[in-house]
Amino acid sequence: MPENTIQPKLCQKCVLPETFPGIKFDAAGVCSYCQKDEKTIEKAPVRKAQYRQRLDQLVKETQAEARTYDAIMAYSGGKDSSYTLKLLRDRYDLRIAALTFDNHFVSPAAYDNIKKVCDALHVDHIIFKPPWSVIKPLFALTAQTDPFAAPTLLRASSICTACIGLVKSLVLKTALEMSIPLVAFGWSPGQAPIQSGIMKTNPRLIRMNQSALKKALPVEIAASITPYLLPDQYYEKYDHKFPHNIHPLAFFDYDETAIKEELGTIGWQAPSDTDTNSSNCLLNAYANQCHIKRCSFHPYVWEIANLVRQGVMTRNEGIEKIYTEQNAEMVRYAQTRLT
Ligand SMILES: [Zn+2]
Repeated sequence: MPENTIQPKLCQKCVLPETFPGIKFDAAGVCSYCQKDEKTIEKAPVRKAQYRQRLDQLVKETQAEARTYDAIMAYSGGKDSSYTLKLLRDRYDLRIAALTFDNHFVSPAAYDNIKKVCDALHVDHIIFKPPWSVIKPLFALTAQTDPFAAPTLLRASSICTACIGLVKSLVLKTALEMSIPLVAFGWSPGQAPIQSGIMKTNPRLIRMNQSALKKALPVEIAASITPYLLPDQYYEKYDHKFPHNIHPLAFFDYDETAIKEELGTIGWQAPSDTDTNSSNCLLNAYANQCHIKRCSFHPYVWEIANLVRQGVMTRNEGIEKIYTEQNAEMVRYAQTRLT
């Protein structure tokens, strides 16, 4: 156990703390979320196999048509999205455009990885970088307050929610404009349940989410991000062309060590310039710290607890990831840039 560790009372099975909203413990100290999850975990192997078959079928239908790209991938250069990219190339030979949203905090090591992976996998790469004048107010605001609906706070910091909101919107917008039928994400099995692993995007739901995102923000910031959201006319214009979202890691084998080894064969290296939870973002440590301060639990604890419950990470590894102080230098770096 690292010495700079801060630990409240934790579930004896996963890593959720007593400060997590709605949590209860039984006599053995096991949390209510672990108890609720038991049946889902039992059924997981069968469901995962079904979803792999579903993806095989969906890809087959997709590849039958001539087009430039079968899929657009939201590509951060991190381990999970790099591995997803490799899986989609190796298993399906998909024609992929990888889109990196540069939020002005992409680490140099992540860029090295992005270049190596895209070249090794023969994938076209697109960088999308909005100006600092758009990014800074959005992150400065979400560093100070939590403007989005309360349930988002259980899964992610407000900084991450704002950033991911833009990423999701941009890849969808690009998919529609370029007639790309699949949108791929590298969510880990702790971030996305199996049943969300393959889903046709629902225009009505997207419209609601985008409007909620804008409404949560002050008028000037909402106006500055509007160009990155879907214009109203797209919902009719592209009505029947909304793509499928796929998160293959929700239903393929997931083993962090094996993933890193396999990525090593195509030149990806674990960066040393980021914190323990993100291999690509220099803003993450500060985002974590802001969230912990306001919410009293780590924004990654939900994901890591799921991974521990699913047996793909040991409880001790989980504890080390979650209950280690944020790297002070990295916190300061992001904080300074956002003030
Ligand atoms: Zn638990």
